[in-house]
Amino acid sequence: MRIAFLLLALLIGVHTFYIEEKPNSKNHQDITKIAILRATAKVCESIGGFEKPKPLNTETLARSCKKDAFASNFETGIKIISYYNQQTDTDYPLSDKYHFHSEAFQDGKLLIINGLEAITTYMKNLKFEDARKTLGQILHTLQDFYSHSNWIEMGETEPCTALINLEENIPNPADKKTETCETDTKDTNTGATIKDNILKDKILTSGYFGLSKKKGKCSHGGTLDFTTGFWRGWDGINKDGTDSSHGSLHNKAADVAIAASVQLLEKIWKSSDELTFYRLMGLHKDKPEGNFKTIFSFFNSKSRVSDASEN
Ligand SMILES: [Zn+2]
Repeated sequence: MRIAFLLLALLIGVHTFYIEEKPNSKNHQDITKIAILRATAKVCESIGGFEKPKPLNTETLARSCKKDAFASNFETGIKIISYYNQQTDTDYPLSDKYHFHSEAFQDGKLLIINGLEAITTYMKNLKFEDARKTLGQILHTLQDFYSHSNWIEMGETEPCTALINLEENIPNPADKKTETCETDTKDTNTGATIKDNILKDKILTSGYFGLSKKKGKCSHGGTLDFTTGFWRGWDGINKDGTDSSHGSLHNKAADVAIAASVQLLEKIWKSSDELTFYRLMGLHKDKPEGNFKTIFSFFNSKSRVSDASEN
């Protein structure tokens, strides 16, 4: 049992912003919670008579938003959305599009766009449980873009808005033939080297994950990514944690993933109204129903990001 568990943790931990807790790294739950707090603060602010609290957590925000009585429901709502976010790794571990692996940019974007549409419909029909499930899933995919692509390596510091807007084209994705990574990198400390012209010309690529890749493409990297070749797990570009192949960029990737998640949440707000948005987040008299305990709950201390190092 223990070995199976460790293998599962290892398998999941190597191909996404982590879902277990790691020192000095933000996992999907941290990113999701911070984004929901920031987006909800914006909604409260739009109504007026609101002062953004410091620290920003479910309790202080509920109070400032004059919804004190719903603070615990809000906490539950965030946990449920985060649960469905992390479930994406256990439900679809080998599907490229759910994690923007292997340059699956268009398919990943469609998951997000279709998810946004479904959420709007669910909310109209008061199906908030289904809406939270879909929201968790698409936030996962959106967040993975920043740790799995070379968006951050290209020097971008703002979200790729094309991922949440149907009419906007994904900027400059590499075609299947374009080589994107050097094949003779030897520095085990800095991960794979993305080709100079790819970074200079801002050509979008992402790490391949799985069993094999075309020569010249970048790998995701990590213990169970076999595209790197034997004993070359370091030879990837992911920024899932500070100990990943491109881990020195982890914090930048996490920051842009938070900003992108806030934009997606604002889009949902704009497609509905304030009260519906609050209800989706759990900031409402009805306690949100749904599962939120996984084997990883064990690792996640309760209030780790409760004050969310807000600014
Ligand atoms: Zn993932």
